[in-house]
Amino acid sequence: MTEPAYLEDSYQKEFEADVVDAAGTDVVLDRTLFYPSSGGQPGDTGLFVVNGIEYKVVGVRKKNGDIVHELDREGIKKGDTVTGMIDWTRRYRFMRGHTACHVLSYVVHQETGALITGNQISEEKCRIDFDLENFDREQMKTFEKKTNDLIHEGIDVITKTLPKEEAFQIPSLIKLKNVLPPNVENIRIVEIDDYEIQACGGTHVRNTEEIKGIEITKAENKGKNNRRIYFSLKD
Ligand SMILES: [Zn+2]
Repeated sequence: MTEPAYLEDSYQKEFEADVVDAAGTDVVLDRTLFYPSSGGQPGDTGLFVVNGIEYKVVGVRKKNGDIVHELDREGIKKGDTVTGMIDWTRRYRFMRGHTACHVLSYVVHQETGALITGNQISEEKCRIDFDLENFDREQMKTFEKKTNDLIHEGIDVITKTLPKEEAFQIPSLIKLKNVLPPNVENIRIVEIDDYEIQACGGTHVRNTEEIKGIEITKAENKGKNNRRIYFSLKD
């Protein structure tokens, strides 16, 4: 099991770790700051340095409890010590987009009762899918304004890990009871003040102000009761 060190502090950019497995261009470390592609957030990219030689990390994925880094070339061996550096500009943008998804989901849920059914973040744009029958242009403007109002309120974003019994006491998390594998003991949750509480294994900014603002660029119908909203981050 790779220790997912990015969960402790999503603002760490550089680390040292030991190689526990290496096969071709795939490398597994004992711990990593590289976020693996999951939950609509792309995997990090960046660099490994071993004995003064640089390797590009081009993809990161989860595999059976391990986090596998895909490199641009072979050469790293089991037992090597790696200095890892994530591409911070790219990751920070994902942290802003990901946290913005939480705020926008909260607003849409407050306004319509709809639940989020999926999301995808990229460097250029983000999208969220909602279980919603109808929406119109006016509503889009309301969603955008209310989301930006919350962003500019400067609300602290807090992540913590709770024993599952405690997490199930939180109304918005009770639905997890039926979907979580029984062997899960603890649940990582993210709180945006009292507004939004969700189970989430992603990387978030510390305060909503860091998102700076969003612009809703497009809304689409994706079949019955499925509406998709695209947004971009202000600069
Ligand atoms: Zn999240």
